Amino acid sequence: MTDWLPEWGNRPKKLVQPFWWPPDLVLRQATSAVYLGVLSHWRHLTGWMLNDGFRCLPGAAGARGMGCIGFPSHPVWEMTRACNLNCIHCHVSGSTTGSELTTGEAKHLLDELAGVREFRMMAFTGGEPLLRSDLYELLAYSRALGFTNTIATNATLVDDRVAERLRDCGTVIAAVSLDGNPETHDMVRNTPGAFAATVKGMQALRRAGIVLHINITVMEHNVSQMDWLMARADSLGASLILVYQLVPVGRGLAIKEAALDKKANEWLVRFLNQSQARTRGIIEPVAGPQYWPFLLKKSGISAGPLFSLAKQVFHGCAAGRGFVYIKPDGQVWPCPFIPVSCGDLHQAAFSDIWATAPVLKNLRARQRLKGSCGECTYQSLCGGCRGRAWVASGDYLAEDPACFINSMDDR
Ligand code: SF4
Ligand code: SF4
Repeated sequence: MTDWLPEWGNRPKKLVQPFWWPPDLVLRQATSAVYLGVLSHWRHLTGWMLNDGFRCLPGAAGARGMGCIGFPSHPVWEMTRACNLNCIHCHVSGSTTGSELTTGEAKHLLDELAGVREFRMMAFTGGEPLLRSDLYELLAYSRALGFTNTIATNATLVDDRVAERLRDCGTVIAAVSLDGNPETHDMVRNTPGAFAATVKGMQALRRAGIVLHINITVMEHNVSQMDWLMARADSLGASLILVYQLVPVGRGLAIKEAALDKKANEWLVRFLNQSQARTRGIIEPVAGPQYWPFLLKKSGISAGPLFSLAKQVFHGCAAGRGFVYIKPDGQVWPCPFIPVSCGDLHQAAFSDIWATAPVLKNLRARQRLKGSCGECTYQSLCGGCRGRAWVASGDYLAEDPACFINSMDDR
């Protein structure tokens, strides 16, 4: 472990509860993976639980089960907008200008987040976090507070030395995007050679002992490569594979026609279910919470103890319900795909925003959902993608326009 460096100032006191406490959370996390595995006929379930699942536990810290964008109950801080790539679908506006929290402000933010009892895992994202010169200091600070650190990086700047330093500052999981074969990936990243650099970075992360989590964003450009992508994610050793749907916000607005419609959403959900049966890593959808009702409906579970259990461990949309997204300028959003401010950290304490922001209260009260989501049997374990509802109607409580669950053929 990296010693605390004197130039980093005072080391903070540990405030965050350990990832294994209370044990019923670990039980819920394990149950969600087993339940998903059984419903999907996942042939690697046992091996995954014994190897990857065990190593993922610190990253699942605080989760009450499974939900969108990995696990609920964690803050994600977009620490910079700056990036060395220029991806066509990035939800970050792509601007390299604008204010960012200073090192001191960032430490203050981490102190505040450490005071929220349910948070145990801290996710650092960007832009590209490695472009912030104080990254290691902030990771070390977060770790000293007691957080498990995870990082989202494009990995093109990661070599063995960088990966070891990330690990030594408490990074247990690294999320890296892969969006197609080398030609497609480089086109999506707008950068020749990005695929090769990313794969090298992923290999360095694994050599350093960091759990590899691969993000794939499905859009028209790569939808025909999904089988290849799943096999590649497996061969690269991904423990977690998060399959994002394009929600056209930020730079992604310019390619909004590439987002999947209702029919394509159903195709993708069915594809993920079939892929899970044979893929080594665990697959989870992002912006596709219909995955969980689909698994239950396909298995004929709509009432009784198994349905009650599902409601305990599957949570669907995580926006504002544990998961929260902090922008570089201190604005607090419920999710990167809901560009609606819940408050400004320059004007209010995070704990006040977290406890009182009307947007967050609305998102936590599923009974306030409208249209088909408001009347749905699966409301508590799905909730629809609130970002897609916002893009389609300007109302983050409206029904998810890509939902196929109530019209699907049950086979
Ligand atoms: S109607 Fe809404 S809550 Fe129900 S399954 Fe569809 S998206 Fe989910
Ligand atoms: S708004 Fe969509 S992308 Fe965001 S947490 Fe909810 S389902 Fe996931």
